[in-house]
Order: sequence, then structure tokens, then C-alpha cells
Amino acid sequence: MAGRPFVFLDRDGTLIEDVGYGHRLEDYQPIPGVTEALARLRDAGFGLAIVTNQAGIGRGFFSRADYDRFHGRLLDDLAAAGLHIEATYMCPHAPDEDCTCRKPHPANLLAARDELGADLAASWMIGDHAKDIEFAHNGGCQSVLVLTGHGQEEAPRLGSLRPAAILPDLPAAVAHILASATSVK
Ligand SMILES: [Mg+2]
Ligand SMILES: [Zn+2]
Repeated sequence: MAGRPFVFLDRDGTLIEDVGYGHRLEDYQPIPGVTEALARLRDAGFGLAIVTNQAGIGRGFFSRADYDRFHGRLLDDLAAAGLHIEATYMCPHAPDEDCTCRKPHPANLLAARDELGADLAASWMIGDHAKDIEFAHNGGCQSVLVLTGHGQEEAPRLGSLRPAAILPDLPAAVAHILASATSVK
């Protein structure tokens, strides 16, 4: 079973501005060009899923209900643009809880393989943290680091991690993926 190619998307700093533990609707700010770029992926046959670490819940900075309201705003905006996010894999734990759902642990990529039928070798992760790139590496996906959010600070922290590209923002990452993926659909 080959499965379908997916693009896995970090949320904060990749789809929306990273205000630091964002959970208030007044802090909700999409990064320009995101909906148009995601539509290009959809039209090329990629499934879309979000993978997000929300340690602010585990640290008690905001509640699950705050998260649901804030994240729902993003999903509503994307749905209004005809974009279906097939799953959101959200880790609510603090780093010291040693869970397996926090990036860079690849458990959620394996879940996407099993639950969504994602072909991980044909799939990509886009994110603004070294953790996102390590997550992709651990799950056998390709990756792009974007320089929105924390990308500028994170790029020097990649160490031996090798994303396929380091690009200014999500629309540029999508253009790279579409140019690289000749066999989709
Ligand atoms: Mg991020
Ligand atoms: Zn977790």
C-alpha cells in the first residue's frame, strides 16, 4: 500500500505569526499567502495535516478550551478558502513530561501513516524550528525550514539536520515542494 503524499504543517511561525504561546483571538494573524499556497498543494494532490507542539497547555499558560477556540479560528479560515485539514496532531504536554506526541518524536508521523494513509517517504514537513526538521527526519519525510517565526534563530541550530531547503516563507516552501514532486497524482 503506497499511500498518499502529505504535507505536514507546523502551525505557529509557519501558518500564523508566532506571538509566543498564542491562544487569544486578538493574536491570531495568518502569514500572508498561506491559503493560496495550501490550495496549490491541495490541487496537486497532497493531503494536508497540522502538527503542533502546544506546551503552553502543559505549562498552565492557557487551557485546552483556549486552544480549541484559537485553533478553530484557523481551521474555519482555511475551510472558508476550501482547504480541508485532514488532521491536527497537537501535543499539549510540557517538555519534561516526556510524551511521544511532542515533536521531534516521530509518533505522530507514524500515526498519520496509519490513520490517514500517508506515504511518509513521499511526504514533506514545513516548519520554522529545528525540531520540525528533526521530526521529519525521524519519520522519514523530506522537509523545508521557513524563515518566518523563529526560522532565523533556528537555522544555525540545525546541526547535522539537512532540510531539502531553507526558504523565506510557506509560499516559497510550497513552490519548492511542487517543483520537486514530479510524480504526485
Ligand atoms: Mg513553529
Ligand atoms: Zn505530548
